[in-house]
Amino acid sequence: EDIELKDLPGVGEKTAEKLQDAGFADMMRLATATPKELSVKAEIGEGVAEKVIEAARKAEDIDFETAFEVMERRKDVGRITTGSSGFDELIGGGIETQSLTEVFGEFGSGKSQISHELAVTVQLPEDKGGLDGECVFIDTENTFRPERIEQIANAFDLDPEETLQKIHIARAFNSSHQILMADKINELIQSGVNIKLVIVDSLMAHFRAEYVGRESLAVRQQKLNQHLHVLQTIANTYNVAVFITNQVQARPDAFFGSPTKAIGGHVLGHASTYRVWLKKGLAGKRIARLVDSPHLPEGECVFKITNDGIID
Ligand code: ADP
Repeated sequence: EDIELKDLPGVGEKTAEKLQDAGFADMMRLATATPKELSVKAEIGEGVAEKVIEAARKAEDIDFETAFEVMERRKDVGRITTGSSGFDELIGGGIETQSLTEVFGEFGSGKSQISHELAVTVQLPEDKGGLDGECVFIDTENTFRPERIEQIANAFDLDPEETLQKIHIARAFNSSHQILMADKINELIQSGVNIKLVIVDSLMAHFRAEYVGRESLAVRQQKLNQHLHVLQTIANTYNVAVFITNQVQARPDAFFGSPTKAIGGHVLGHASTYRVWLKKGLAGKRIARLVDSPHLPEGECVFKITNDGIID
């Protein structure tokens, strides 16, 4: 990019510095920010923020694009294997870049295991189902286990230590910390780290624990919306895949069967491009059901969790 922050009309040295410090160093990041987000994070007035965003949009030439251009951009979409060919097929060939993929399911359904698997497979070469990339792992429940990464890396003939070096862990202690760590991913990428996958395991745990009761629901959803917006922007701006895990709602009224509703409400429902429901099956098997996708039919597959990771 040739245009610098201070070249934007109405942006002086001081504002440029504030923007830079707040992580809005590149024009695309700025162009896709909301005035509110920018004014809070960079500590500038909302009016100024609006003008800066507009200028960045002009600089980036953000306007309507033709369907052909969209299709051209879709050609850059990369896919990361889940380790199971059935699962990959279900979601159109693996976890997609430029998208948010959500898996939800009850405790022990395999959400964290798939997260660990993807943290390894993203590092594989493209002809082996990876993207030759590194990964950010936002761990909110302290369930990340390096030993598990070693096992899966070995199964793919990858050097375990090298594999661990390419997984950037953020242990998030509360939802504010989680939001902050997601904001910092921009810096990591701008510093030259080839991040191709961002995992948030689990997206909702802190939000759910911290915002209890009807009266706090609106605030929770607003924060969640901002968080998802940041993740979606990273996915689009840097051609990155975002993988989030989610819990299910306890349904005291359901006497039979398992709870089937993901938490997070419409905010999350709309943000996720792909939604997969995970269920426990017989004999240690797991069932994945695609419940929402822009262009794929609903369907199911069976997979297994083994020492070597996820398999058919
Ligand atoms: P969730 O994140 O959905 O709560 P997990 O992804 O942590 O669930 O899945 C936990 C389950 O994965 C365990 O109950 C166990 O059945 C299975 N599992 C974990 N590690 C292994 C392993 N090395 N070999 C086989 N199964 C495993």
